[in-house]
Amino acid sequence: MRRISILGATGSIGQSTIDLIKRDRDAYDVVALTGGRNVAQLANDAIALQAEVAVISDESQYGALRDALAGSGVVAASGARALQEAASRPADWIMSAIVGAAGLPPGLEALKHGTTLALANKESLVTAGPILMQRAADHGARVLPVDSEHSGIFQALIGEDIATVERIIITASGGAFRDHPLDRLNDVTVAQASCHPNWDMGQRITIDSASMFNKALELVETKEFFGVRSDQIETIVHPESLIHALVGFNDGALMAHVGPPDMRHAIGYALHWPDRRALPVDRLDLAQIGQLNFRAPDPARYPALALARRVMEEGGLAGAAFNAAKERALDAFIAGEIGFMDMARVVCVTLDKMSARDGLQNATMTLDTVLDIDRLARIRAGEAIKMTGH
Ligand code: NDP
Repeated sequence: MRRISILGATGSIGQSTIDLIKRDRDAYDVVALTGGRNVAQLANDAIALQAEVAVISDESQYGALRDALAGSGVVAASGARALQEAASRPADWIMSAIVGAAGLPPGLEALKHGTTLALANKESLVTAGPILMQRAADHGARVLPVDSEHSGIFQALIGEDIATVERIIITASGGAFRDHPLDRLNDVTVAQASCHPNWDMGQRITIDSASMFNKALELVETKEFFGVRSDQIETIVHPESLIHALVGFNDGALMAHVGPPDMRHAIGYALHWPDRRALPVDRLDLAQIGQLNFRAPDPARYPALALARRVMEEGGLAGAAFNAAKERALDAFIAGEIGFMDMARVVCVTLDKMSARDGLQNATMTLDTVLDIDRLARIRAGEAIKMTGH
């Protein structure tokens, strides 16, 4: 039996992971499941999977979780410390699927114990890629990519020498507004931004897909995970979302990863790695699909992509500032405080201020400095939001 834990079990990735686990229930011992605020979902799954412990991050929900788990044999816990404790429990495989920078500390904790980390939480690599990869190396732990693009790149690289890679192309659907009139983009609503044309995902990543902040995070994630230069990484709009990524080699060959837009493929691949097992995802009918389309991303529509280039070039703590400013700007958009295109303006102003004043490039990267910059960037982004507010 493999011992597994799921951080962010109540979210979209967490639920897809649980779906796969439930289909092969006897193969797994579930150690810990964690959620942010959704007590009902967490308790249901923890009981169904007979987890050792269920952790709800929001401490005010502890009583509700304890009551929901009464008599089930599942231990209830809450708060940041309990989350770290859950990540430190002996396990063979941990899914890191908390959204945002909050996913970084428990992921690092899991690696300290040599646990294989299936990494959906891209923010960990964007904010602290070098720390995360070093932590894994120090403890002989494996990080497996779960983002569909990165899983695709990882699979295209099997048996290949990374030195022969010329370029990596990650595809983007273009999000909810790829054909929306540019001059009306700032006025789109949260509800409109929360609908993805192809993928069914959590609200935050769906809005980030519409703004391409999600792709911006993925560019940085690619650089950190695969150790390639930023000028080797490209993005292309591919409205069908069937090709997830392509790797270009020095002989001109392009290896593409093609599959249906269903996260259970990338999750299942990481779950069974290094084996390939049957997965309950649709098989593509290429004749019915007929054609695949590609277009260059419009920089005016997707300013987040240029910001990602800047972050990759600056390096250091720029990723932590970028991600925190993006998270704060996204909160403000969801709360109706700023318009859709204002998110990129807020992030840009925050980076300008912080690069000049707070020495993002030259600061030493430790978990503490990353968390300090994260806090500071949220404050600076808050100031920028006040100036921008509509
Ligand atoms: P969701 O918003 O659906 O779920 C997020 C999870 O994190 C939930 O379990 C939520 O708990 C929990 N959570 C939220 N805030 C906190 C916090 N401060 N502390 C602890 N737990 C918290 O997100 P997704 O599943 O869509 O995404 C998860 C991660 O995977 C993100 O980093 C995303 O970028 C990445 N990813 C997602 C993909 C997708 O298809 N969804 C694809 C590729 C990557 P609760 O709901 O109980 O409040």
